[in-house]
Amino acid sequence: MTKVAVVTGGTRGIGKAISKELKNDGYLVVAIYHGNEEAAQKFRDETGCSAIKLDVTDFAKCQAVIEKIESDFGNIGVLVNNAGVTRDGVLHKMSEESWDYVLQTNLTSCFNMCRAIILKMRERKFGRIVNISSINGQKGQFGQVNYSAAKAGMIGFTKALALESAAKNVTVNVVCPGYIETDMTAAISKEVLNSIIRQIPEMRMGKPDEIAAIVSFLASDKAAFVTGATISANGGQYMV
Ligand code: NDP
Repeated sequence: MTKVAVVTGGTRGIGKAISKELKNDGYLVVAIYHGNEEAAQKFRDETGCSAIKLDVTDFAKCQAVIEKIESDFGNIGVLVNNAGVTRDGVLHKMSEESWDYVLQTNLTSCFNMCRAIILKMRERKFGRIVNISSINGQKGQFGQVNYSAAKAGMIGFTKALALESAAKNVTVNVVCPGYIETDMTAAISKEVLNSIIRQIPEMRMGKPDEIAAIVSFLASDKAAFVTGATISANGGQYMV
């Protein structure tokens, strides 16, 4: 039976590394992207995997795309909620639009995607859901009230859904990366990045592959007894 894995934000950065790793593990991977057609085409060319355009903030469209993936490719066994965005600013200057955009894309997207697949996983008595949160959801970050709240929300979401799903052999876990070399962190100024790196005991940023390896484990049969777990990968920057 083909094992299908869906990775949101799966054509760039951490998501792309996750898609490639799951493909290596034998999954038929379907990556979701939002609007960067160039990155999506490059991903298709490089990996031979499908990439589908979907705004994960749209509840009805998430339902429709999950249905279509199942009818076109087969049963989804793995869902990785990786799509994420930042729109930084201190709270006293933050617009309602910035708040909504970050909450919707990082957190409501998990509800939308999980809600679309969870009944099927429960009925089939198998599922692996991995949510990609952040170190900044664990410790808070100056200028990121919206992002820290959304990422902390993902941790609570994961634990609650793990409790609801455990008896149905559906595991739900969350990975909290520290600072990883992707387009997202390329947008941070060199000066700020250097000051961040000085706070990381390993004295370097992480690589997308280092997050993908954790997702690969959580999606595997070896991780059947791991659920509701929060796994940090941050070079020692924040220990919980
Ligand atoms: P990137 O900015 O490199 O990629 C973000 C991905 O999310 C893109 O594929 C993008 O699609 C997709 N995306 C954004 N909005 C939507 C949407 N509305 N619907 C569907 N897809 C969307 O991010 P990273 O690889 O750096 O980060 C991946 C995840 O890891 C995020 O959740 C991020 O918060 C988290 N993270 C990242 C860290 C880092 O240091 N990089 C640290 C901790 C956590 P498109 O390509 O079409 O724009």
